[in-house]
Amino acid sequence: MASVTQEASPAGPGEATPATIPVENPATGEVITTVPLMGPDELGQLVQKARRAQPAWAALGFEGRGQILRRAQRWMVDNVERVIDVVVSEAGKTYEDAQTADYGYTVAALGFWAKQAPAYLADEHVPSWNNPIVAGKRLIVRYAPLGVVGVIGPWNYPIANSFGDCIPALAAGNSVVLKPSEVTPLSSLLMAEMMLECGLPEHVFQVATGDGSTGAALIGEVDCVMFTGSTRTGRAVMRAAAERLIPCYLELGGKDPMIVCADADLDRAANAAAYYSMNNGGQVCISVERVYVEEPVYDRFVDKVTENVKRLRQGPPAGRASVDVGAVTFPPQMEVVEGHVQDALDKGARVLVGGQRRPGQGRFYEPTVLVDVDHSMKIMTEETFGPTLPIMKVSDAEEALRLANDTAYGLQASVWTRDIERGEALARRVEAGAVCVNDAQVNYSALNLPMGGWKSSGLGTRHGAGGIRKYTQTQSLLVTRLAPKRDLHMFPYSRLRTRLLHRLLKLLYGRGPRG
Ligand code: NDP
Repeated sequence: MASVTQEASPAGPGEATPATIPVENPATGEVITTVPLMGPDELGQLVQKARRAQPAWAALGFEGRGQILRRAQRWMVDNVERVIDVVVSEAGKTYEDAQTADYGYTVAALGFWAKQAPAYLADEHVPSWNNPIVAGKRLIVRYAPLGVVGVIGPWNYPIANSFGDCIPALAAGNSVVLKPSEVTPLSSLLMAEMMLECGLPEHVFQVATGDGSTGAALIGEVDCVMFTGSTRTGRAVMRAAAERLIPCYLELGGKDPMIVCADADLDRAANAAAYYSMNNGGQVCISVERVYVEEPVYDRFVDKVTENVKRLRQGPPAGRASVDVGAVTFPPQMEVVEGHVQDALDKGARVLVGGQRRPGQGRFYEPTVLVDVDHSMKIMTEETFGPTLPIMKVSDAEEALRLANDTAYGLQASVWTRDIERGEALARRVEAGAVCVNDAQVNYSALNLPMGGWKSSGLGTRHGAGGIRKYTQTQSLLVTRLAPKRDLHMFPYSRLRTRLLHRLLKLLYGRGPRG
């Protein structure tokens, strides 16, 4: 494995041994290294340093900050194998899963935010004609950095969903402290090493390794929190942010439905169903988690998907194209997946492929296809976050829509049909933050398209203008250049000026028909 370690500093005489967390390779069970478990005191110090470093970073301007982000982009290209190696080793995912998302997404995002930050955050001059009180004045909206942003990330995409959200925060002129998941901290430490090598001033980007308590301590210190993780933890994060009245953005869980209409290109839909439910071992917030297929094509669709999934190779990744489906990264996730499959079987579902933990080395669950499923089963209503694909027959798209919306989540969905107009019309009726027609997941790579959840799937968005403006506070500037000694509305009040103002307002707003 490529080296990225941040061993805790050894205890001095009479000091307690610093707490550490072991980092394991889920595909082999081997412990790779340990990282410090940072407590509130260390967090406080980290954030203080970040606060001191931030003004100079902001003062570099878009050009200066962009230069460092672009340098980091080239660093990633030059160190691609090392980056992928670190992600694969701590997440147990395949080379290709790390390549397309963790590496591919991030290398693009560095350039995107370097280029777009000045456009999205440029001063806006807004018109002053809508009220005579401000007519003729210069009105400017300015996007000022917040200060220190705390980013808390999950384990499924150790770079894309952790460091990926730090990039726009940095581009906006903030310092960032990143708290990665305790099971995948090494990728974030590698990103910190990269940023320093690329000339980022010290303490502008720091990584706080630790567990949930470290994340909670971070919220106690920063000026804004960007959280990606489960809906359950998201609620706790929002409560803590509310106590401090700091902005809080939440990218949470999902139960993404796929609706397959009878006129869909069945080969493409079946290939996509297999890929978008099993890539990254199904541990994707916008994974296809459940499928509804119109009756006339149900049997053919199930056959095609089953054939696809049967062919998937699984095991410890050993370089390029060595396996298709990787390990279960987070130990407790295995119990969730097993529990959902067992619950479905108990209630009458049938397994067509897989359906069990893979025997042998590492932590793997076999790619699994289930049929005869319904909404009494957890596998159709709760986030499974594993390599499972339950497929349900529906009489028509209306039934599929009703079932697709029968969930507390609203992250993402997909509709499959050759009738593009109908597909788009159906997509607009799905209660989700993003819906693809004849595609899935790839909208995440459209960095200028907002991505965020409805309902219990989140609050706020990443990407697009909103994805960077959220890391700023707006400052409104009103500048008066040419003006009389006294404006019409100022003291002393007089009958004449009151009448004049009255007439002016009537003239401006009182014309036109009534009723
Ligand atoms: P968790 O909610 O368990 O953890 C997320 C992060 O929060 C981890 O770094 C965790 O630390 C930390 N944390 C735990 N408790 C607290 C707390 N009280 N205060 C602050 N931080 C805390 O999620 P997972 O890591 O299990 O990630 C999987 C989930 O993430 C799935 O639900 C998935 O759908 C969602 N997700 C959503 C995405 C989106 O864009 N909507 C993208 C990717 C994933 P530690 O791990 O060290 O305990």
